[in-house]
Amino acid sequence: MKKSLKRGISLILGLSMALALFTATTFESEAKTKKIQAKNNIVVVLDAGHDTTHLGCHYENFEEGLANLYIAYYCKQELERYSGVTVQMTRYTLECPYGADPDSANTCLKSRVDYAKNAKADVLISLHNDYDPDLDKSQSGSKVIIPNPNYKPQMYLQGTQLGQSILSQLTATGLTVNNWKLCPNGTGIVTRDSGSGKYPDGSAKDYYALINQSKSAGIPCIIVEHAFCTNDSDRLNHLSTPEQYQQLGIADATGIANYYGLKLKK
Ligand SMILES: [Zn+2]
Repeated sequence: MKKSLKRGISLILGLSMALALFTATTFESEAKTKKIQAKNNIVVVLDAGHDTTHLGCHYENFEEGLANLYIAYYCKQELERYSGVTVQMTRYTLECPYGADPDSANTCLKSRVDYAKNAKADVLISLHNDYDPDLDKSQSGSKVIIPNPNYKPQMYLQGTQLGQSILSQLTATGLTVNNWKLCPNGTGIVTRDSGSGKYPDGSAKDYYALINQSKSAGIPCIIVEHAFCTNDSDRLNHLSTPEQYQQLGIADATGIANYYGLKLKK
């Protein structure tokens, strides 16, 4: 079962890898043209959350690391229908590309931010799915975790607008807006502060390492939590088939394209 699943995805991976190599060669990094490029070409780095070493949530038949990878590939494929955008991914396979050590989750996250920095990313978008640790089935739907307003407040504004643009597409697929019990505000656009970590100006760091390290590196980063695998309706209707993952990937891409005002290639 697991083997045939892996075989299926490796087919998709092979095709998409060729695509990725192709787009990477079109990337122009000359400093002189940077300003024009920033206007004419957006670099989006997609981060399929987790991998086979740093496992995400699993419940029933759902495996988060695999689901996130599917969604990222479909998102990349859809986003590449638009002009003025280069799309890269922090991982292209199920395995951890950053030193597969189960105790190295922090190193792995830092490497993903470094990857985005080296790619000169305009934005890092981390794709995830959620799990309620109490198996509380009332927790369902989508939310986007964005940078808090501290230290670099423009990233909070960018995150809010980009997050709303993606969330509106995800809810159009039938998902609800998640009112996350850890940070309830009813909007599905949430920030979460670290209890102890501080930015250089003394303000509270963002709780999530990927967001706070990206902020320090000058890259706005958001975490899209598509759906809850512990909610039966979310899992069966949105997290069970490649077609459902494709729908989520297309929703993400459309939200990203709308936020940046991208136009479909002619
Ligand atoms: Zn996750």
